Amino acid sequence: MFDIITLPVGPLQANCYILLGKKKAIIIDPGGEGELILEKTGNLEIQSVILTHGHGDHIAGCPVFVDKGIPICIGTKDNDMLLNPVANYTTFTGQPFVLDKAADILLKEGDVIDFENTSLSVIDIPGHTFGHIGICADGIVFTGDTLFNGSVGRTDLEGGDWATLEKSIKEKLYILADDTIVYPGHGPSTTIGTEKKYNSFIR
Ligand SMILES: [Zn+2]
Repeated sequence: MFDIITLPVGPLQANCYILLGKKKAIIIDPGGEGELILEKTGNLEIQSVILTHGHGDHIAGCPVFVDKGIPICIGTKDNDMLLNPVANYTTFTGQPFVLDKAADILLKEGDVIDFENTSLSVIDIPGHTFGHIGICADGIVFTGDTLFNGSVGRTDLEGGDWATLEKSIKEKLYILADDTIVYPGHGPSTTIGTEKKYNSFIR
C-alpha cells in the first residue's frame, strides 16, 4: 500500500503522518517543523496536505507546503480556522498563526482521494471541532484529535461537543473492523478493537 512515518512535531507533539508511496507522498497534519517533514519525503512528489482539523498544533507546519503550491485539504467546516488565530487557538499560545489563504480543497464524508494504486476515504467525525474529519485507508484510520489510545479529544473548545464526539466515535469509528489500526493526532497508535474494549471514556 504505502509506508507511514509518524513524526511528532511542535510543542504539543502532534503526530504528523507522512504517507510514502512509490512516487508520491501525502502529509497528514503538519503541525510544525515543516522543513523537517519536507525532508522526510525525500524525492517524492507531495500530492497534498490533509488536515484532520484546524487547530494550530495540527496546521502550523503548512506554510512550507503552501509556498510550494501543494494543495491543502481540510473538512469544510474547519476551513475558517486556517485564517482565524482565535478560532485555531494560536492566539492563546502567544504566537498567533494563520495561513496566507484558505484551503484549496474542502473535504466531506464520502470523498475519495486517489493515492497511487490505493485510495483514502473521508469520514466526518465532528465533536472535537465542527469540521473534524477522519481518513480511512485499507485497514487503517487517521483519527486526529477525535480518538486517542485510551482517551478522546477535548470538547471544551469552540466547536467541541461531547454528545457529538461520542456519536462520531460510536457510529463512525467503532463500526470499523476490530483490527483496524488507529493513528491518532497525539500519542501512540492503537486498534479499534482495543479502544472498544478498554477506552473508558466511551461506554
Ligand atoms: Zn485539536
